[in-house]
This record gives sequence, structure tokens and C-alpha cells, in this order.
Amino acid sequence: MDEFTLISRYFDRPDRQRGDVVTGIGDDAALCQTPAGMSLVVTTDMLVEGVHFPVTTAAEAVGHKALAVNLSDLAAMGAEATWFTLALAVPEVDEAWLEGFSRGLFALADRSGCELVGGDTVRGPRTVAIQAMGLVPEGQGLRRAGAAVGDRIYVSGTLGDAALGLSIARGEIEVEAEDAQYLRGRLDRPQPRLELGRALRGLASAAIDVSDGLVADLGHLLNASGVGARVRLQQLPLSSAYRALQGRAGWDAALSGGDDYELCFTVAEERIAQLESVAATAACELHCIGDIVSEPGLHIEDVDGSEYRAASSGHDHFRNHS
Ligand code: ADP
Ligand code: MG
Repeated sequence: MDEFTLISRYFDRPDRQRGDVVTGIGDDAALCQTPAGMSLVVTTDMLVEGVHFPVTTAAEAVGHKALAVNLSDLAAMGAEATWFTLALAVPEVDEAWLEGFSRGLFALADRSGCELVGGDTVRGPRTVAIQAMGLVPEGQGLRRAGAAVGDRIYVSGTLGDAALGLSIARGEIEVEAEDAQYLRGRLDRPQPRLELGRALRGLASAAIDVSDGLVADLGHLLNASGVGARVRLQQLPLSSAYRALQGRAGWDAALSGGDDYELCFTVAEERIAQLESVAATAACELHCIGDIVSEPGLHIEDVDGSEYRAASSGHDHFRNHS
């Protein structure tokens, strides 16, 4: 199969999804119409097989995740997702893999209302680079800077599940089948919080998506905002699958594990009532995990009120103790 047959079979769909795509796949570049009064939001994230996803990952999950990690960045900016490009390297033309990959990719694209408008296809070690684009009303984009002393810190969903899913994929831990399936699903099929991000426009003082773990990503938000934080361990949202493992996993996966793609954001005290009405209709739970303080750095309070020191990353923890 040549490159153009591959593109037309798996990526160029006959019906356009969006009216604002003047020219999509098939020209030298895409032409997309940006409305007046909106800022273009652009992000890119690359996944390399064996580095960013285990080689055992289903093709459909790779397609989903490659787009999801990009849409998560748009969500953290408060943007609506509109268009994306796909640069794909594959070692050979494996039709079953390409079919699964494009199915996972387009299922999420269609649910999120964004359209594939172009890309590049080459032979090489399996690598997926997506550039996602979105729109946000001028001046309303959410940023990492903006958190102020006294603001509350929230996270969506639950933390640490994807890191435990990775430990399971690597055979480092064994758990009940149902929990294993849930945790592996959290690793392979993160759900970008696009609706939540949009609802946080004009409401959150700062936001970031949690891709490298809470400690790292909240740390970026604090640095950008020039403030510190006090986070309470017992307020971290954990899934029941995580809780079942907590005797072995401790807090490290929730604090330092990557790949959750939840949103972490701050809200001023006077806007909390407004946030509660957002939370009532959100697709995921929102939990307050602490407060912004003036003292720089991230201070983690243990269940007994003493200062907690994270020992190591979740995976190392399992390596050393299982
Ligand atoms: P060019 O040589 O002009 O850069 P290509 O031959 O690389 O164009 O690609 C032909 C068309 O197919 C272009 O419109 C390009 O954007 C699109 N395309 C190539 N690979 C992909 C892909 N993996 N997904 C979507 N569109 C693709
Ligand atoms: Mg060209």
C-alpha cells in the first residue's frame, strides 16, 4: 500500500465534520476559518511506543490517547477543541493496527467536535505526534499564572490511577481483575476534561492539567503564580481501586504518578458558590485538596497534621517493596 492509499483509507474521511474547515486533508496545508473575537489555542504532544505507552497497548487505545493528551492541554486552557493534525511514524503498514488506531482516534475526535485537517505519514519507530487547535474567547484563556493567596485548590476525578495502571501493565503488581481493568483503562483511555475547562472560564484563577503528577504540575502552577500551597493528603481523591491497593501503594502514585490528565485549578473564595453549581453538572467529581498560601513551595500535610515528605515515585516504590 502506498502512502496516499493509506492516508485516504484510514485518515481522510468523506464527510467534513466542521463547517469552518475550508480545505482539509489533500492540499499542501489546511485552511481553517477562525471567528472574530476568539484566540487560537495551539498545543502539541508526541507519544513514542515503549516510552509513552507500553508496547502491549491496543492500537485503538493509542489512537484515543494520542488525541486525549492534546485535548487535555486545550481543556486546561479553557478552550473548545476544533482542529488537529496528525504526524504518524509506523514501522510497517499493519492494516489491523491502522484500523484500530484510526477508530480510537476518530471516536474521541467526534465526541469532542474536532476535525483532523492534515498530517504527515512516514516509516519509522511507532510514534504519534498530534497538534491540536482550539478556540477561546479573547482574554478568557485559563493560565498557570493567576492563583492568589487564599484561593482553594481543586482537582477533577481521581489521582494516581494511571500510575497504578502502568505498574500493572509492567507486571509489578497484581490486583483483582476488575480493579486491574479499571486502572489499565485509566492509563490507556484518559478522558480530557474539555467541558470542565470551558466551564472554568472566568471562574478559575489558574489551571493546569495533571500529566506528570500532582506535585510536579501543581508546582508549575505555583511557580507561574508566585505563590505556595498547602495540600492535605486526606483530601486527595482516590478511586476505590486505588484504596484497595493503598496499603502497598501509599500516597506516592496519587502525588507523583503521571498520566492522569485531570485538571488542577484554583478558585477564589468568593467564587466557590459558582464552582459548586459547575460541580453539580460536571461529568466528573471535583475535590478541594488544599489552599494557596504566601509561603513559597508545596507543603503536604499528613493525615496526623505533620508535614509529609514524598519518599519516591510510585513505580520505584513498587520496585523496592513488592
Ligand atoms: P506534502 O508533501 O504537500 O506535505 P503529503 O504528501 O505529506 O503532503 O500529504 C498529503 C496530504 O495528506 C496533506 O494534505 C497532508 O496534510 C495529509 N496527510 C498526510 N498524512 C496524514 C495523516 N497521517 N493524517 C491526516 N492527514 C495526513
Ligand atoms: Mg505540499
